[in-house]
Amino acid sequence: MVVRCEEVWREISNYLEGEIDPILRTAMEEHFRECERCAAVLEGTRNVIELYGDERMSEAPLGFSHRLRRRLQENMVPRRRTFLGWMVAAAATALVAGSIELAHSSVFGRPAPRSEHAQPGKGVPPDMMVVVATEGKTFHVRGCPFIHDKARLQTITAREAMREGYTPCVRCMKKYLSS
Ligand SMILES: [Zn+2]
Ligand SMILES: [Zn+2]
Repeated sequence: MVVRCEEVWREISNYLEGEIDPILRTAMEEHFRECERCAAVLEGTRNVIELYGDERMSEAPLGFSHRLRRRLQENMVPRRRTFLGWMVAAAATALVAGSIELAHSSVFGRPAPRSEHAQPGKGVPPDMMVVVATEGKTFHVRGCPFIHDKARLQTITAREAMREGYTPCVRCMKKYLSS
């Protein structure tokens, strides 16, 4: 029997609490040996359960009315499971997201998503102060003769200019654009 990562994550709290089919248990044990990501999730989940597990979780928070407390106690078993399941799912998600990010940076050696598309102005130092005209579409070095609307100039950083959709002026920004 072969399990996929998604199935492992779904069953991981049952696995840790020993409430799982022996065949599935074996399959998951095998999976943990081969899949670093799921092994990390298992480790994290175990910590979560140790930290928040059992009695602390089955105690209703202070300030609950008697009636509500009793109702909670009546439903304790399913409620606890749901809450624990939710905790585990949240922990697993965070871990998986973290490990995927880790994988990305180690595989590609750089944060890949953005650099795939060459951005105009990539070579411009992001902290450099540049000048933009409110109505314009380009940003310039201060004093560039190609600034059209000199009445409404604003000085901001190149990073901000690019974030707002301005592109570098091909004349005064030339030296940065060739890099
Ligand atoms: Zn896996
Ligand atoms: Zn310019």
